Order: sequence, then structure tokens, then C-alpha cells
Amino acid sequence: MKKPSSEPCADLPDPQRLVRPLVRGLRPYVPGEQPRVRGLVKLNTNENPYPPSPKVLRAMREAVDERLRLYPPPTAGGLREKLAKLHGGQPGQVIVGNGSDELLALAVRTFVEPLTSGEGSASTVQFLNPSYSLYPVLAETHGARVSRVSLGEDFRLPAPEELGTAGWDFGAALTFITTPNAPSGRGYSTRDLEAICLCQRGVVILDEAYADFARENAMELALRWPHVIVARTFSKAYSLCFQRIGYFVGHQKLVSALDRMRDSYNVNGLAQVGALATLSDLPYYRRNFKKIVATREKVSKELAQLGFKVLPSQTNFILAEPPGFPAKEWLEQLRAYRILVRWFAYPEVSRFLRISIGTDAEMERLITVCQKILGRSGRFGKSVSDHRAT
Ligand SMILES: *Cc1c(COP(=O)(O)O)cnc(C)c1O
Repeated sequence: MKKPSSEPCADLPDPQRLVRPLVRGLRPYVPGEQPRVRGLVKLNTNENPYPPSPKVLRAMREAVDERLRLYPPPTAGGLREKLAKLHGGQPGQVIVGNGSDELLALAVRTFVEPLTSGEGSASTVQFLNPSYSLYPVLAETHGARVSRVSLGEDFRLPAPEELGTAGWDFGAALTFITTPNAPSGRGYSTRDLEAICLCQRGVVILDEAYADFARENAMELALRWPHVIVARTFSKAYSLCFQRIGYFVGHQKLVSALDRMRDSYNVNGLAQVGALATLSDLPYYRRNFKKIVATREKVSKELAQLGFKVLPSQTNFILAEPPGFPAKEWLEQLRAYRILVRWFAYPEVSRFLRISIGTDAEMERLITVCQKILGRSGRFGKSVSDHRAT
């Protein structure tokens, strides 16, 4: 090694000690696996099994030319206008982000005091358990207090009185409600959500990542109440996970506060082009929602016939308790057949598998493989020797 040309003035710092104590202890969010395996039936991260519309792909391809050297529209103005029109609001009520995940993080930084400068409710990030597992991570990275109330066995939305007795904080600076819920798949009615919103004195974010697969959505609450924000994404329903694009709709004052906190060019240009083209071809996507919902209902019945306990779903995935042996073992058995589903280690849902809805062919493959696994286990249907004979 070459000798450094100058000597340090003092002992060099230990790099670990340069990291804030809070950050040293952080546990990161664990995303679902994204393996690149040929022939894999990938049902683990709730991606849409259908591609973006041909018009979207064309618009994005046509945008790839020498203009890539230019910065994209900094406030995503064109897209915000179109989204405002779609939802019946003003462009000033819409903010676009690098995936809705970016905006969820931005909301924590905008509305919640870190514990060092605030206290109690002003520093509280609140959510139901189970729900989107990113929320506690966002609270932790910000140094905020966490308040969580467990959903019951059936994952139904508790009434405000029930929340009150369970230690819910109606003054929490920020409350996240995943609706329809993930990972349970359960849908919540706008009326029940509104009852909770009207008891909260902080910001409420209704995270509607899966609303397009549900019977109803709560967008009207974001347009009606000053402290309610609805979060949407192009990832799940609009087949654009790869592009990272999501948005919030809420009161102009909240949106402009978020706007001050965001990076100048937080949404990349191709994502804006893709999202705009998506909004010009909504009938294509609505046909896909219908197909996915039909597949969801069909596969739910078929799994139930095999002995799975399938929870009713309003999303593009189902939560199901498999028969015979533990869910974690099912995860591995399915993996051996190159079917990837999601299993969460935390106690509220560790008996379940979360299965994204794929194409009909993919779900037929799932059913066939489940039959094989059950047959081989010998406890259901065919015995081990029967299986060997076939
Ligand atoms: C997938 C998901 C998101 C993230 O969406 P992106 O726009 O891809 O960041 C947010 N909330 C919930 C509940 C999700 O399932």
C-alpha cells in the first residue's frame, strides 16, 4: 500500500461511531424476495400479473431519446392536474412521490416531532396490527413513538369506543390505516373509517394501495376533511412497480407542507410519462381488475376445498391458513415447486400464507401443486405410496 502523503492530526475516528446512535440500532424494512428464476410463479409481492397497457409501453419507449439529459417536470404538474380531475379535487390537493412509500416517509417527517424535540402524542406514529409493516420502520427511523392496537381474530376494523379501551391515541400526530387491510385483505367501509377519522385530532393517512380491487374506497374523506389524506399507488393496480410512482390526495395546507419537505425532482421523468399514459387508458386496467377479482374468488373457493382457511379479500392477494402443517413449511414446499408466496414471522399472521393473485394459469398451477403436497403428506387425500405410483 502507498504511504499516505500526509499524517492525521489525531487518532482517526471509528466509522461506526460516526453513525447516529438511533441509526446504529435500526432494523430495516424487509421487502419480499425478487429472485430471477426462470419459470417461477411469483405470488409474493402483490405485483399485477398483467403488463402495463400497450399504450403506456409505447409512450414510455417514445420518451427514451436525447431528452433524457433534461430534468423532469419538478412538480409533476401535468400528472397532478390529471389526478385532481380524476378524483374531483384541485391540483393543489395532490402530491406525487417516488412510490407511495416515499410519501409515507415524508408524512412522518412533516407531521411528527422526533422524541428529542416533542413528546407524547406530538411524537406518535399510530397504526393497527397487523397492517403494512413499513409503518413501524418509518417511525423508528424518525425517532418517533409508536402506538399500535391489535386487530381481533377476524381483522375487522374496531369502532372508536373499542379503540379507546385498547389504548388507541386519538391525539396521535399521525395515524396510518391500511384500507383494504394488508396483509389480511379485509375491506373496511367508508362509514367505519370516517367514524375513526372524526375522533382523531392528528393527521390520518388512509393507505389505499389496493382500493381498485375493493367494493368501495374512501377518497371522499380526503376531499371532505382537513386532516385526512388518501394514499394511492400505480404499483399494484396499474402494473408499474418498476417505475416507483404513488400519490397523496388531501387538504391543500397538508399537501403544501409535504411539498416543502420533498426533494425537487423526486419523481423521475419516465414514471411521469408512464403514469400519464396510464390515466389515458383506464378501461384497459379496469378490465384487469375484473379479471383479478374473478380469479381471486375462484382460487379462494378451490383452496377452501383443499382445506385452506381463506379469509375474504378485497385486494389482489389472499391470506390463507394452510391445512396439515405449519405455514412456514408450506412456504418451503411451494418453493421447491418454484411457487413463491409470502410468509410473515410475526405472531398475528404466522399461521397464514399471503398469496398474490396471478393469472388463471398461475393459480391453476398453485392448486395442482397444493394437491400434490397434500397427497404426499399422507394425511389428506392420497397416501405417500399412491403418490409414488403416479
Ligand atoms: C405496496 C404498498 C405500498 C407501496 O406502494 P409503492 O407505491 O410501490 O411504494 C404502500 N402501502 C401498502 C399497504 C402497500 O401494500
